[in-house]
Amino acid sequence: MERILTRNVGKENSTSLAVYEAGGGYQALRKAVKTMTPDAVTDEVKKSGLRGRGGAGFGTGLKWSFMPKEVDPRRPHFLLNNADESEPGTFKDRLLMERDPHLVIEGTLLGAYAIRACVAYIYIRGEYVFGAGVLERALDEARAKGLVGKNILGSGWDCEVWVHRGAGAYICGEETALMSSLEGNRGYPRLKPPFPAQAGVWGCPTTINNVETLANVPFIVERGADWFQSIGKAPRNTGPKLYCLSGHVKRPGVYEAPMGLPMMELIHELGGGMLRPEFPLKAVIPGGSSVPVLRADECEVDLDFDSLAAKGTMLGSAGLMVMDASTCMVAAMERVAHFYHHESCGQCTPCREGCGWLERVLHRIESGRGLAQDLDLLMSVSRNIIGNTICALGDAAAMPCLSFVEKFRDEFRHHIDHKSCLAGTSALQGVC
Ligand code: SF4
Repeated sequence: MERILTRNVGKENSTSLAVYEAGGGYQALRKAVKTMTPDAVTDEVKKSGLRGRGGAGFGTGLKWSFMPKEVDPRRPHFLLNNADESEPGTFKDRLLMERDPHLVIEGTLLGAYAIRACVAYIYIRGEYVFGAGVLERALDEARAKGLVGKNILGSGWDCEVWVHRGAGAYICGEETALMSSLEGNRGYPRLKPPFPAQAGVWGCPTTINNVETLANVPFIVERGADWFQSIGKAPRNTGPKLYCLSGHVKRPGVYEAPMGLPMMELIHELGGGMLRPEFPLKAVIPGGSSVPVLRADECEVDLDFDSLAAKGTMLGSAGLMVMDASTCMVAAMERVAHFYHHESCGQCTPCREGCGWLERVLHRIESGRGLAQDLDLLMSVSRNIIGNTICALGDAAAMPCLSFVEKFRDEFRHHIDHKSCLAGTSALQGVC
């Protein structure tokens, strides 16, 4: 497949406007604002089958169509580009922002045009200091050329784009928390409804899309929905996809391939295979740390929303973490639980207390002090979190825990019964 989203990555001065325009950049924006209505852009994206690349996989065009058709001047529309990429194992948006910022800006502008917004924000995680600087410089260049700001390309449409840096909280990637943070408040999620399209940031109609999602839009506008549908697995898993590969592989990194790439092809061909031949594949977390783990015997699967759902897990952010036979699954799950406990905002009791319980019990098992009833306790706490919280962070902590305990029960049991590690790599090694 030709490189689409990453076509500029690796080019000299890939962040400059000159290089971006030389490769056809901003032609889609020109086409949209001069020859298409906002509804026509939305319809083309709807037809393309593009689904959100941030994790939920919701139809992008459908999401845009929820926005009011008329703009009340007292309640302007806002487009928020969610660049708060904080999911462990996920680093694809960073590549786009740092290496091809004008693609991110053009996608943001097209999204704003489609929903009739005159202001867009790129909400970037606080730790991405370098990426924020790259985006700011690119925005200055675009502004100076009339691509951002007043009367864009002489079309009569005004749209300002701002970069807003978060303070480093994972929860601010959740859309209602992101809006709260953008307003200057604490990044607390809230219940929906009202949905952002009804009452979003500052109470105004708002659409929130992921960086990679919006980066697809210039290509859809330029080449059409049929072209986009011809990549991947039509009708529901279309287009190019960025996969983040990390863990025990020879060549970790971000890889672009069609949606629906077989997982083993990503690991063995693009990723160069397992890191050490003496340690075979044991498990893969396919979509960032918040999704259920797959055992090696479940890894003959295509990387798309529906194939992974059929296996009881999710594509999520497509952050694949590969674990070989040397991995202690108790230690791995303990790290994941620590992360979610630390990042819980504390509003809901099942998440605030439950994530703490998961971490403490996992730590107890990992350090050789596990009790006979601990596995039942982990399952019960996880089940009591799922579906009982304001936002999905609680589920993000509980779903991996359920799957780790169910699929690697022998390993957990061994830690409890024998105070030693089956994989031979946990901290218990030096203790017992
Ligand atoms: S689920 Fe957790 S992170 Fe989400 S609102 Fe509740 S306490 Fe906060």
